[in-house]
Amino acid sequence: MTDPAAAMARLAGHPRFAELVDELRAAAPVHQVDQADAAAAHAARLAAAGGGSSSTSTLTALPNWLRRELVEAFGVYARALPGRTCQHAPHPDRPAPVTAATWRPRLVVCVDCAPLLGEPWQVCSWCGAAGVQVATVQAGLLLYLVPVCRGCRPQVVADAA
Ligand SMILES: [Zn+2]
Ligand SMILES: [Zn+2]
Repeated sequence: MTDPAAAMARLAGHPRFAELVDELRAAAPVHQVDQADAAAAHAARLAAAGGGSSSTSTLTALPNWLRRELVEAFGVYARALPGRTCQHAPHPDRPAPVTAATWRPRLVVCVDCAPLLGEPWQVCSWCGAAGVQVATVQAGLLLYLVPVCRGCRPQVVADAA
């Protein structure tokens, strides 16, 4: 059996994110997959409440830079990449929704600790334009926060199509 952290290390930066998710699921014990699915469903509800989500099935449509950041966040979460978490130390052994943000690389926190991510950028993560809203990209149990302008939002979250 593949170790999830090792799978992450190998696949971090891999452009084919869907395969990465499949790899992680294959590597995890069944009860953890069930818990991870429950956590992902929970994360989806949180994302919907926050106004914007992309399911894992559409991640391949995300821009490369964003997909790479999502993979990095997962890498930190799985302890396969250097980074920090909140004091609750979220970990795949105890799947629960986690959150990270493009303006705080390599920091992954539980949803209760989201304030630790601090203030978002006031400019678009993609084009640099002013007048942004923070979009929530949901990838499994990860909620990734990305400030984007109106013009770039459809590229990042499916709800704006
Ligand atoms: Zn926490
Ligand atoms: Zn933009």
